Amino acid sequence: MARPDLHDRIQGLRKLRLAQNRVRVRRTISRRDGARVEVDGRWLTEFCSNDYLGLSQQFEAVTALQDAAGRDGIGAGASHLVCGHHAAHEQLEREIADWLQYPRGLLFGSGFLANLAVQQALLLEESDVCVQDRLNHASLLDATRLAGCHLRRYPHADPEGAVRQLRHEGNGAAMLVTDGVFSMDGDVAPLRALHLAARMQQALLYVDDAHGVGVLGPEGRGSVAEARLGVKEVPLQLVTLGKALGGYGAVVLGEDALIQHLAETARPYIYTTALPPALAAAMAVGVRHARRDQWRRDKLQALVERFATATLREGLQRLPSDSPIQPILCGDDASALAMSAALERAGFWVPAIRPPTVPEGRARLRITLSVLHGAADVDVLVAELARARDALPRLSGAA
Ligand SMILES: *Cc1c(COP(=O)(O)O)cnc(C)c1O
Repeated sequence: MARPDLHDRIQGLRKLRLAQNRVRVRRTISRRDGARVEVDGRWLTEFCSNDYLGLSQQFEAVTALQDAAGRDGIGAGASHLVCGHHAAHEQLEREIADWLQYPRGLLFGSGFLANLAVQQALLLEESDVCVQDRLNHASLLDATRLAGCHLRRYPHADPEGAVRQLRHEGNGAAMLVTDGVFSMDGDVAPLRALHLAARMQQALLYVDDAHGVGVLGPEGRGSVAEARLGVKEVPLQLVTLGKALGGYGAVVLGEDALIQHLAETARPYIYTTALPPALAAAMAVGVRHARRDQWRRDKLQALVERFATATLREGLQRLPSDSPIQPILCGDDASALAMSAALERAGFWVPAIRPPTVPEGRARLRITLSVLHGAADVDVLVAELARARDALPRLSGAA
């Protein structure tokens, strides 16, 4: 029998995506000024970046990047264990650990890599198990595949479901893994109950707080701190630097022994070039602002409340969320795409999020709020959302 031809295969898949309205396109940004972006020659107000605290163009952070690049150049030169570990990396790890009150941090190239590293370095036996929330980030699911152990998923935000799945796999070492704030829904995981589940079942609890750190909790320490938990209950957690902190990279925080083990054995740590030290220097400035500038969180919270009230008044189907991630459910893909296109005509950039990123029938507009927005931006956005919903063909729109 002839082998499947890979060109034929991808052509077939592309046709399928076309038929299902699931082709994905990239848009190109040519200029950026806060939440205003020039896309394909036209200025739009974006409600889709994860720059919740408005730190990606923060003056001091940008200056720190320029200064450090002038001194150290654009790259680290090597991986951390060879000769790429710089003082700026060391300093950033220390500042983040100090901020979140964890013993130690380890800097990774990205959150995706960090998630691969944590599971690969700890779940070493085939009989080990990783138990995960159904709506966890893709990198957490891929990580289990890479680790080669059992993956079991429980219904969204269901600690009893987690216990059932942990019980089912009796013999191996176990990790219980959850997003802190769910990236497509914006809700917060029931961390205290998950901690009890993990403790009862002798599993290690790992929280990926990509969207919580900077935004939630005292000093913006994230969803773990907001749940009044710490390293004792959550021995490992992930902070990403590309969301509220406005840059790029990630830090895994944890107990000393766990972090030491990651640094010495995790392949996605060892076999990759260290983050540019200039970027690490800029991120340390971002961290100081995220920690200190309570006004950013206060303003963000006021915008979230404004959006919630206005969407309720307009009868829009908002998913329950207190975070800056505020999804509006549209149901089928075509409605989500039509609403996104109508918003763009009105000057707003709000992409439709479709399966497989979200479950079938749960296509949505994933609206994200930022301190870069003003109250008037939110008001006009909600008015245009309602107009776009009203313009949908009958029967197809759930929004
Ligand atoms: C964005 C994200 C990641 C990946 O982080 P990157 O630094 O962008 O690679 C991991 N987990 C969650 C929950 C995320 O939202």
